[in-house]
Amino acid sequence: MSYTFPVTRTTHPKPRPADETKLGFCNYFTDHMFVMDWDEGQGWHDGRIVPHEPLLIEPASCVLHYAQMMFEGMKAYRTPTGEIMLFRPDMNIKRMARTAERMCIPELPGDLFLDAVKAVVAEDSDWVPTAPGTAMYIRPFIFGDEVSFSVLPAKHYRFLIILSPCGSYYAANDGGLTTTRIYVQDKYIRAARGGTGYAKVGGNYGGGMRASKDAMQYNCKDVLWLDAAEHKYVEEIGTSNAFFRINDEVITAPLDSGTILPGITRDSVIQLLKHFGVKVSERKLAIDDVKKASEDGTLQEIFASGTAAVISPIGWLCCEGKDYQVADGKVGPIAQKLYDTLYGMQTGTVEDFMGWTYPLGLKK
Ligand SMILES: *Cc1c(COP(=O)(O)O)cnc(C)c1O
Repeated sequence: MSYTFPVTRTTHPKPRPADETKLGFCNYFTDHMFVMDWDEGQGWHDGRIVPHEPLLIEPASCVLHYAQMMFEGMKAYRTPTGEIMLFRPDMNIKRMARTAERMCIPELPGDLFLDAVKAVVAEDSDWVPTAPGTAMYIRPFIFGDEVSFSVLPAKHYRFLIILSPCGSYYAANDGGLTTTRIYVQDKYIRAARGGTGYAKVGGNYGGGMRASKDAMQYNCKDVLWLDAAEHKYVEEIGTSNAFFRINDEVITAPLDSGTILPGITRDSVIQLLKHFGVKVSERKLAIDDVKKASEDGTLQEIFASGTAAVISPIGWLCCEGKDYQVADGKVGPIAQKLYDTLYGMQTGTVEDFMGWTYPLGLKK
């Protein structure tokens, strides 16, 4: 089944960002957005494309008080021939279903979701940037806006998709990779077993801000989270998944604890490493073993993976006031190769030998 949606065009188109090399991360939004409603008995209805503008929301809407919401993050990339492509949107659909189930939010049919993404990207396709390192960030989200203070799943929801032309998340000026410093968080936790760590929800982020703000005092860009139970094992880096290369084995936290966000980039990195013949393990890794590897010279690379930055290499860990350097503090070869391959595939400059890209047929 394929869905079509009515369009109300803006009467005030915005000027396009003047310099595509200075977009930053989500500083600009396009002219239009997608909106859809859910009502009990009716299900999802009235999908439509409207001008991107402020919403009217009743102050007693439950989401503003109890945070019943979820989101996704994906990108539309421009290829050298002018085509626009998504990357593994089937994975966003699967993750949305798991998040919705956890949050008691009504499930959105996958084909409806994808048709909505396609329709709104098509409407604002001329906003998809072309400069190196850029893409159009796509932010689908759903929230309950029933007027109610009872802590129960809402009886009305809104689904929106907003679009933002973006540069790279950790703004390296040329769009290339640089290393960052990361603070090893020993006081606060992100997610515990049985919690919402595996779900893409705002609450996980609201609770994490104290830690990232504190990390900035140590001149760190973000935090490395440790497990909640023992503060012993590495989990994630801020808004991305974490990989550690020690003695030529690449290690990332396993998903079975339910405390790790199952990143689509994470899954792609694991598959690519296997394809390259690099040993990759999903297993617990103690922070003490990472420190030891830094000291004895076997810590070769650390990098984070996520849609926003694709791959972001880490040069230093700051742990209890002490600095641990990762190899020579520079971008490692595996991180660079993964970035070049992934971003190359996404933007159509490297052959997609995994079948991950999803062209939209929107050539300029
Ligand atoms: C979205 C997200 C990631 C990365 O997932 P991708 O699908 O690779 O973008 C990692 N950790 C957290 C907490 C996230 O919210």
